[in-house]
Amino acid sequence: MKISEIKNALNQIEENKNLRSVKDFRMLSATKAVDENQKEFTVFSSNNYLGLTHEKSVIEAGKSALAFGSGSTGSRLTSGSSFELSLLEKNLADFKGTEDALVFNTGYMTNLGVLYALADKKSVIFSDELNHASIIDGCRISGAKVLVYRHNDMKDLERLLAGLGIPDSFQIFVVSDGVFSMDGDIVNLPALLELKAKYNFCLIIDDAHALGVIGEKGHGTAEYYGLDGKSCGIDIQIGTLSKALAAEGGYAASSKLICDYLRNKSRPFIFSTALPPCVAASANEALNILKRDGKSLVEKLNFNTRLMRNLLEDAGLPLVKGTTPIIPIVLGETEKALLFSSECLKNGILLSAIRPPSVPEGTSRIRLTVTAAHSEKEIRDCAKIISELWRKL
Ligand SMILES: *Cc1c(COP(=O)(O)O)cnc(C)c1O
Repeated sequence: MKISEIKNALNQIEENKNLRSVKDFRMLSATKAVDENQKEFTVFSSNNYLGLTHEKSVIEAGKSALAFGSGSTGSRLTSGSSFELSLLEKNLADFKGTEDALVFNTGYMTNLGVLYALADKKSVIFSDELNHASIIDGCRISGAKVLVYRHNDMKDLERLLAGLGIPDSFQIFVVSDGVFSMDGDIVNLPALLELKAKYNFCLIIDDAHALGVIGEKGHGTAEYYGLDGKSCGIDIQIGTLSKALAAEGGYAASSKLICDYLRNKSRPFIFSTALPPCVAASANEALNILKRDGKSLVEKLNFNTRLMRNLLEDAGLPLVKGTTPIIPIVLGETEKALLFSSECLKNGILLSAIRPPSVPEGTSRIRLTVTAAHSEKEIRDCAKIISELWRKL
């Protein structure tokens, strides 16, 4: 596209009601925010599933590590690695039950960095149609052949696997979200593992919305299906530090062999300045809390999720059914979703309208998320406001 055409393109986006802009808030607690006019909102749009962003010890851990510099000053392989980052990696590997783990600067960069390093022209990647954008982009830059299968549809995946006639010299990958970010449903891991036994592929699961959220103690997708990290059959478990772990960054947990290869070959790992020690220290403290209190935190999260889902369902809202704290209310037209979220905003409820290209055309929605930090009153008040708006609109 010519730069001279940008103005028209932007106008087109605006005409389609898809123009986005950034709005600033200040988070006063895990569930309360204020805008620039000091108007207060209850937040139902964050991925702060365990509410640990404002936990005293998580903040204190970051503050203490600030003493070792506000920035990391270089990439991990030059001057940027810190005790905090390496400790975090050990802790992540321990929690995920893998030999090793590698931290990247964001979850987005993790998917890019893993797929770019491991897949190439002699690879075929099978990717769920609702996978996160970072997986899609990682597939694209890898140069591999990419085949998209219907969402969580293992019959469709097997049809593609069986039909292709892939040469023995090619590596096959299957990559999927663990918990899908826009629909909140969970990957059919047992069926994927059956296919893996038959077709022998490298299985990558992105647990960005699963860590701290599913599994009895919040270990993620493997634990949800009663499997432990070591023997679960997932070759690479990807995740983020920016959701339940209340910080910033991403990780790939896998064998020592694969992690060492990534340290040597993954361009987002090699060519970007490392996270500062304070971020790693906060993430590590959040992980320690998850290790210690995971069971009760996940129970609280599930309690809040059930409460909100039941209240909204009873009021007749068109929810995508499920069990995770990602609660999509599918409204169809973009305008409807925008109107709904702006009315909520007027009533002091912050939630996000999700529209194309984040979701398919005609499935614009409200994406409401609950956290373990919400009080029962906050949830009941929110459900009441939303139900009244739903009746009115
Ligand atoms: C949020 C998300 C990411 C990106 O993680 P960031 O740390 O925010 O960059 C990757 N994968 C999935 C499935 C996600 O939901």
